[in-house]
Amino acid sequence: MLRLITLGGLFLGLFVDARAQITSSFTIIDYWVGKLLTEPGAIHQSIIPSGGELHGYQLTPSDSLKLSKSRVIIGLNPHSETWLNDWIKANNRSASIIWINEKFSQVSHPWMSPAVSKAMVKTLHDGLMIRKLSSEVNLNQVLAEIRNAELSVVREFATVPESRRIIITQHPNLLAFAEAFNLEVAGSIIESPEAESADPSAQKYSQLLKLIKARNIRVITCDAGQNNRVAQQLAKDAKINPPLPLTVEYLEKSGTPGDTWPSMILTNAQKISEALKK
Ligand SMILES: [Zn+2]
Repeated sequence: MLRLITLGGLFLGLFVDARAQITSSFTIIDYWVGKLLTEPGAIHQSIIPSGGELHGYQLTPSDSLKLSKSRVIIGLNPHSETWLNDWIKANNRSASIIWINEKFSQVSHPWMSPAVSKAMVKTLHDGLMIRKLSSEVNLNQVLAEIRNAELSVVREFATVPESRRIIITQHPNLLAFAEAFNLEVAGSIIESPEAESADPSAQKYSQLLKLIKARNIRVITCDAGQNNRVAQQLAKDAKINPPLPLTVEYLEKSGTPGDTWPSMILTNAQKISEALKK
């Protein structure tokens, strides 16, 4: 019996060590990891699941265990993911971390920009290459995929008159996207990306209402799954269509629209484009 347990433990040990365990902070990075990895059977996963809240994330004990078992850990940047940076420092794991967005850490929601996404994928690839886990072929495939999605989004917005390409967002999650695709974000209900549930002041609210009327804004976007009570009220008071729910912070579960980076960016673009034309 003892021998069996020992063998079992040994087997389990080999089993875990033989396959690279690569853990990313959230689903969008994990998607690119899956595309770049060359090692057959390499296990990759994300800490914050599909549907999870990125801002102000708190590490759980099971996350901590996942990170401890990981050979490579991938995050966006240490400033926006302080929970991950704190864990890395406390556990002396700076040799295992790849930050893919340190250069562009001033850009909010950088994965919504194709140009920044390409730069992040290159950084990710370089970090995986050093560990013999990626290849040039895979990198070029991912870069082509981003380029193709970008062209599809450009074609989508070409159907919207320029004067109509203006939106208000629930929180500032579409600035990089707007800049890339020639849209204007005239304002956000909540200014700080770190406080998605906080309400705006009465003054801020009436400013937004005036702005919508003055500039004939027809679309307010909100974050799917988040409290959008203020956005609902604003749309009602401005007598425009109800807020448009978008999924920007994560990829949807496999098999549904938005389950890959290209599908996520294109699905959001199609929703915005349709709403702007209404
Ligand atoms: Zn956000």
